[in-house]
Amino acid sequence: MPTDAIEGVPARHWHRLDDGRIQCDVCPRYCKLQDGQRGLCFVRARRGDELVLTTWGRSSGFCVDPIEKKPLNHFLPGTPVLSFGTAGCNLTCKFCQNWDISKARAFDRLQDRAAPEAIAAAALRAGCRSVAYTYNDPVIFLEYAIDVAEACRARGVRNVAVSAGYMCAAPRVEFYRHMDAANIDLKAFTEGFYKKLCTGALQPVLDTLVYLRHETEVWLEVTTLLIPGHNDGPAEVAALSAWFSEHLGPDVPLHFTAFHPDYRMLDTPRTPARTLTRARRIALEQGLRYVYTGNVHDPAGQSTWCHGCGARLIGRDGYAITAWALSESGGHCPTCGTRVAGVLEARPGRWGQRRAPLTVGGDLPA
Ligand code: SF4
Repeated sequence: MPTDAIEGVPARHWHRLDDGRIQCDVCPRYCKLQDGQRGLCFVRARRGDELVLTTWGRSSGFCVDPIEKKPLNHFLPGTPVLSFGTAGCNLTCKFCQNWDISKARAFDRLQDRAAPEAIAAAALRAGCRSVAYTYNDPVIFLEYAIDVAEACRARGVRNVAVSAGYMCAAPRVEFYRHMDAANIDLKAFTEGFYKKLCTGALQPVLDTLVYLRHETEVWLEVTTLLIPGHNDGPAEVAALSAWFSEHLGPDVPLHFTAFHPDYRMLDTPRTPARTLTRARRIALEQGLRYVYTGNVHDPAGQSTWCHGCGARLIGRDGYAITAWALSESGGHCPTCGTRVAGVLEARPGRWGQRRAPLTVGGDLPA
């Protein structure tokens, strides 16, 4: 591709190599690029003597979702979140559940153009308490995500990252300085799974989790999609839960969600509900306090229970809140006074399960 055909804004986190190539340092793929080449994620590209981000200001669409759909169960429950993504991804998961966006190479999916100020203003207009960088991994469009996050913070709107956590240390520090909450995909607990099904690696993801839990104020929840025959065995779930308990502690919520056949794994069956229930039980036995099931009908597995006395504190059915028993002071069990971890207020939001597409628009800076 002629280099002047690449549109984009200057990207950060790269350096020049002795052999003349440019290396992107955002994620552990460390793509090494000649002029005109794009990285594996397709959205970071070399133009002349610099690296550019080709998706600044371009989105695959905007939606208002329940925050529970990210999934975040302990961060402003019941509130609406303005959600958007761009295109591309830095992992190549064969089971991708958003492949039409994450694998988009032609930018035909990127219909909405939106400046950061316009997104922050739209979030406020729609009554959203937060904006989520989701659908595809925000790590690859971090310059745009950070510009939007700054505009949101200036207006009192919080920022939520939904990511696979596959990134390097320096961009991790920069990116998460602007985030208030994160849901990180822990796709499995073996290097083999990451290598074979995602062409990635587990250890950088574990590093991100430990970093977020111990070196930031970002509210953290974790999701593991259980795929029959690949990462759903009781021994692997027990190993994952034991690591989780030891390195992240009992208060970080863990979501086990059900796989449905998609993308390049159409022959793998849907995850049975009993597999999720078994995984939840194993994780609870390892001492985790907040373990949830997702993508199945399971009100008990989706509710928040007091780890002090066992009372149900937040009832859920899918993404809907069906009961709320937390104290008025926000976040305590009314029966025994035990505190529930999270960013919790006296009352839940009233958004419900709705998903509402939104037009943002707004002029992009010249
Ligand atoms: S962010 Fe994209 S270009 Fe950079 S190393 Fe990762 S895959 Fe390669």
